[in-house]
Amino acid sequence: MSAIQIPQELLELRAAIHDFCEREIRPVEARYAQELNETGVIANAEEERRKLRKKSAALGYYSLHMPEDLGGGGLSYLGQALVHEEVARSGLLLASRGGLLPSVEGPTIILADCTPDQRARFLDPLMRAEKEMCFALTEPGAGSDATAISTKAERRNGSWVVNGSKHFITHGAEADFAVVYAVTDPAKRARGGITAFFVEKGTPGFAVSRLQHTASTVDCPAELTFSDCAVPEENVLGEVGNGFYSAMRWINGGRMNVATSALGIAQHLFDRMLDYAKTRVAFGSPIGKNQYIQGYIVDSWCELESARVLVYEMASRIDDGADGRREAAAAKLVATEMVGRVADRAIQVFGGNGFMVEMGIERFWREVRAQRLYEGTSEILRNNIAKTLGL
Ligand SMILES: Cc1cc2nc3c(=O)[nH]c(=O)nc-3n(C[C@H](O)[C@H](O)[C@H](O)COP(=O)(O)OP(=O)(O)OC[C@H]3O[C@@H](n4cnc5c(N)ncnc54)[C@H](O)[C@@H]3O)c2cc1C
Repeated sequence: MSAIQIPQELLELRAAIHDFCEREIRPVEARYAQELNETGVIANAEEERRKLRKKSAALGYYSLHMPEDLGGGGLSYLGQALVHEEVARSGLLLASRGGLLPSVEGPTIILADCTPDQRARFLDPLMRAEKEMCFALTEPGAGSDATAISTKAERRNGSWVVNGSKHFITHGAEADFAVVYAVTDPAKRARGGITAFFVEKGTPGFAVSRLQHTASTVDCPAELTFSDCAVPEENVLGEVGNGFYSAMRWINGGRMNVATSALGIAQHLFDRMLDYAKTRVAFGSPIGKNQYIQGYIVDSWCELESARVLVYEMASRIDDGADGRREAAAAKLVATEMVGRVADRAIQVFGGNGFMVEMGIERFWREVRAQRLYEGTSEILRNNIAKTLGL
């Protein structure tokens, strides 16, 4: 009997998510196989994801993680772990970044603070996958220490006037609106002086000033600039001064999602390297007969299985009432460090083929590198855990 008991209904949900990937996404991705093999990207990916997202929303998958009173599925953290892992395990490019389950473009618990009017304008369309958002906190001068942001908002003539810039904002160029964090009381800053605002695309003074290409083929964040950008009072999300606390509400969910997608990608790469080691022949026998290759595979298996047990356990503890700071940080730290090692070994097992775009291995190696940076760097996660241990 497994130490972690997964309820039957969660296993069924995971199977349904698997079916969606195979039935709805794989055939679409297959149409782009040649482009993906030659270039490692699908130029039309965003358009295809939008269509898939709508189907997912219609089935309720896209908002599974949101509370039931907001129209979501009220899914537990353990349930969310299982479905995110399953999606990542598929290895499908179109399933990632909001093709089935939401990434940053979709509904988030931060929006639980919406007024009824904001719910109608922003949250409900997000839940139906009719609109997309981005989360704009990081700035050139404030990353890990988000309390040091300098974008400011001042009240003038019944509006808030925002000035400053944000960078590395995922989905910044595509989003219909941004949730932007700005200092409204410099004396209080993170302790009651940072406010969240909905800023809609097309608002005068709001610009996507440049795209920021990365090592990954799925991420192309953007720099956003606000120059005397007037935002109406009714676009304040939650209470004035409360933005930082509300941003922190998403932190556990965000970190758990990264941890579980790391598990899924590691499983995908593990399955592929095992298969390759059994079939690729060198010196007259399968390379998997070689102890070095066995070591790469066995170490990957042990580390992946250990990380999975830890991540599921941490998710269950949050479901049981733990505040999640230590649990989510530990899950993300262990799983993302693990997948980095597994992705590197996968390239080694595949040899030169592993480095070729057409084999579809190297893109994971580049993509998972960023998992140790966003939603808390590995160093910041260690700091967070150290604090919970009284250090
Ligand atoms: C692909 C990608 C997508 C992103 N998407 C978004 C997004 O959608 N929205 C958004 O707001 N942000 C986003 N970010 C920003 C991300 O959250 C930051 O990059 C991250 O918080 C780190 O900040 P920084 O890059 O400024 O690094 P810095 O804070 O400058 O840190 C540099 C190094 O110093 C270390 N360090 C800093 N402080 C300490 C400390 N106290 N102890 C030990 N080490 C420390 C860090 O761990 C890191 O190794 C994204 C980043 C990337 C790479």
